[in-house]
Formats: sequence, structure tokens, C-alpha cells
Amino acid sequence: MRPPPFATADERNRFVAQIAEISLRYNKAMDSGDFANGQSLRRQMRAMTEEYYERLPLQAVSCCPYDQVPLFYRMDPWGLDGEWWNPDSKRDHPLPCRHFCTLRGAVNFNGKTPRGGDFDAFTGPEIPYVIPRLLGFDTMQAVIAKLPLPFGDAYTVGYFAERRPPVQQLAANWPAKHHSYVTAMGKAEFSFDNDPWDFDLDKWIAAGKLLWCPPESVTAAPVKGTPQDYPYRELRGKRERMVVSSAGVFGTGLPDGSFLSPYED
Ligand SMILES: [Zn+2]
Repeated sequence: MRPPPFATADERNRFVAQIAEISLRYNKAMDSGDFANGQSLRRQMRAMTEEYYERLPLQAVSCCPYDQVPLFYRMDPWGLDGEWWNPDSKRDHPLPCRHFCTLRGAVNFNGKTPRGGDFDAFTGPEIPYVIPRLLGFDTMQAVIAKLPLPFGDAYTVGYFAERRPPVQQLAANWPAKHHSYVTAMGKAEFSFDNDPWDFDLDKWIAAGKLLWCPPESVTAAPVKGTPQDYPYRELRGKRERMVVSSAGVFGTGLPDGSFLSPYED
């Protein structure tokens, strides 16, 4: 049975700090050749990381424009030092509605420097954007939602379609770096995600392709309005791919649309 979720930020922060401390002791043990101790610390680390995932809370992150079913993530809303934000980690979300295609995201740090972990978290740019290639699919709509988090405001962009394109034609699920998926034939595959982004949202709103959740509720029916109604028009921030780690926050440019082979470095 799943243990109860972390009740407070403090409880979660202590747990994440404990994992980091054991990881440090593990590295020391291996460096000094104490492999038996190292093995035991690694087992401890794995068990605690598993428990960390089990204790993450469910959070509504978007809402389907076709049937108004909220999309839930089991996520770490407290800090970018949590393993959930590691682009390679295995995230475990509840089953979405049948229209859901993928979720993208942006995090606005509001001028502050967030604390990162010993990995690169790919949080997205600081203001929401769309991927024109995805919006080009028949019946595809995107929905922007704001999630205030302790280290900044996240803006998710959920993609939903009445007729979902094949999964291999979709894109990475935020905050993953690559697009990992299982084909209809049951084959696990992945591709690099390098689709150009568009921050000029007006035309997509005017075309009825881009909606938003009411700012006060992610689970309320998405609104289809005019560009002037869009509630985050005045938002300012970096328009490039932001990476956060214990070394700081870095802008790493924009995806350029070129094909990146997953089989080359
Ligand atoms: Zn739906």
C-alpha cells in the first residue's frame, strides 16, 4: 500500500536532505574502497528514493477542453532538488483522459534563484510557449494553467486532441528532456525533443487553438477567449530553455528544429 503523502514542505525537505546525505556517504564509502558499506548505503538510498516517489502528492496540472476532466500529476511541487525533477527519472502519473497528448511547462522564478539538486532540471523557459508542430494536428488544442510553487510560478501547457496523433509524433512530457514512449506495437522508443517554440500566443488564441484554465482554478473548464482576455499577457521572463542545478540557473538557448539522432552523441 502507498504510504500517505508528505504533509508539509518541511517533511519533504527533511526526507530529500536525508537522501542527499546518504548519497554523500555512499560516494565516500566507494572512494575509500569500503564496498560492503557502499552496497548497503546504495540499497538504503534506493529504498528511500522509492518511498519519496510514493509519497508525492497528486496535483491538478491541466484540464481537458473536450470533457473538462482535470489532468493530475504525481509531482514534487516543493523544490527542484527533488529527484522528480531529474529529467531521466521515472515519473508515475495517474491515467489521463483519452484526449491527453502531452504536457509542456515553463517556470517563472520571479527574479529569485531557486535551489537545485545534483542533476540538471529542465524547467522550460520562464514564460509559456506553444509548439506549432503539435498545434498543427487536426483537433489539437493547448491549455495554459498557472501553478504557484514555492520556488516560482509554473505555467503548464497541456495538449489535448479529439483524435490523438500516434504517440511517436508527440513530444516530451514536462519536465522530461527526451520523448520516451511505447508504440501501439508495444515497443519502447525515445527521440530527442527539438521542436521550435512560439512565444507569440495571440495568433493561436485568436485561432481558437489555445485556451487557459481560470487563474483561480486548474480544475475548472478551460476558457476560450480573445488575445486581450489572456490573463498572463504582462508576464516577463527569459525566453529560452532554463536549466537548474546545485551550480545555479542557466539559460541554454532554444530548440532549433533540427533532427537530433538518438543514436549519436
Ligand atoms: Zn478529455
